[in-house]
Amino acid sequence: MKKFLALIVFAALVTGCQSNPITGRSQMMVISEDTAIAYSKEAYSAVLKPLADDGKVNNDAGVMARVETITGRIVAQAVKYRPETENWNWSVRVIDEPETVNAWCMAGGRMAIYTGLIEKLDATDDEIAQVMGHEISHALLAHTAERMSRALAMQLGIIAVAATQSNDTQGKMIVQGAAMAAVVALELPNSRTAEAEADLIGIELAAKAGYDPRAAETLWKKMADESGAGESRFDFLSTHPAPVKRMETLRELAPKMMVYYQDTSPRPMYVINTAPPVP
Ligand SMILES: [Zn+2]
Repeated sequence: MKKFLALIVFAALVTGCQSNPITGRSQMMVISEDTAIAYSKEAYSAVLKPLADDGKVNNDAGVMARVETITGRIVAQAVKYRPETENWNWSVRVIDEPETVNAWCMAGGRMAIYTGLIEKLDATDDEIAQVMGHEISHALLAHTAERMSRALAMQLGIIAVAATQSNDTQGKMIVQGAAMAAVVALELPNSRTAEAEADLIGIELAAKAGYDPRAAETLWKKMADESGAGESRFDFLSTHPAPVKRMETLRELAPKMMVYYQDTSPRPMYVINTAPPVP
């Protein structure tokens, strides 16, 4: 069994380099994007189920409609960059936690936004579009699979340490490790390169969806100003560090994006899955 384990880790590391489908950058992939998507499906239910049981999912129809329109319009643009993603199960849920400032998108397009992000920042539609455009870009650029790969590598490390266990236990631990990686990946920060890529594609997607690119700078300004005050949990900042440099870059990008924003042609909308999780 020890030999088998070493073989898995070795094979994963050797076969793990892939070119990014949009930027061409070489990415370290311990697991494929398809595998990441499959595990994200389970992870999405695992994260949402307890929240739904506590009555914290999709409580406000008005907020839900806002988020559905914004994400629907951005995804309609995102799928043009990678047509195969049209078949992803693009989903979004609003989690009613007024103290939590966070939003994320798993591999395969399963998203969530916390009410704290909207309420604490008093976020406009244009600013919400910047957050979701950025998160959608992470999924589109396979960053979530990249983060999951790091999380899985960590899990495999733990398994390797536990190599004295019986074969049966080890087998179970590998399966649990892969599923856990999808959840752990939500809490891992992206690399600086990945952040820069998501900023660039995110502001572009939002502008093409009809949202003001100048809101990217105001969003991060609010995020920086508000994070110092009160007891709120700014989870978003722990996975997305360095707001000062980021604001400068986004300010410089905004004028280049105005042409997309000012385009008067209709903005198509992708039909996002918003159904509450089945208890
Ligand atoms: Zn990010």
